[in-house]
Amino acid sequence: MHELSIAASIVDAVAETAAAYPGARVKEVRLRVGALASVVEDSLQFCWEITTEGTDLAGSKLAVRKLPVVMHCAACGVDSELEGVQSFRCPRCGGPAADLRQGRELEIEAIELEEAEEAASEPGGRPVSERAACARS
Ligand SMILES: [Zn+2]
Repeated sequence: MHELSIAASIVDAVAETAAAYPGARVKEVRLRVGALASVVEDSLQFCWEITTEGTDLAGSKLAVRKLPVVMHCAACGVDSELEGVQSFRCPRCGGPAADLRQGRELEIEAIELEEAEEAASEPGGRPVSERAACARS
């Protein structure tokens, strides 16, 4: 399955980035996927769950942002969004869409990390002293 290898490579890239933030948990991964990237979102979501299962990324959300195909028409001198991927023609003049500017993307737009709970619950960074811990018991 095509989407399985995509999910695996995203997991690799995200894990590499997250490694720079020890203790942080990956909450959401945002993807930009062009209409021509031939990625089936449902399938990718399914593969994401399988691939992240049992890893540090388990339970993280994969948010897919779809990008329409954008072509640049030399005759009109403008960039236009194409309605679908069936017709590669300039919506203004009907000229051929030889210069595609967007639509093949498959990239990570952002990774949302959640701070480690331990760090968040100690705003002052004040360590619990051993003496206090002993006095309580
Ligand atoms: Zn045109």
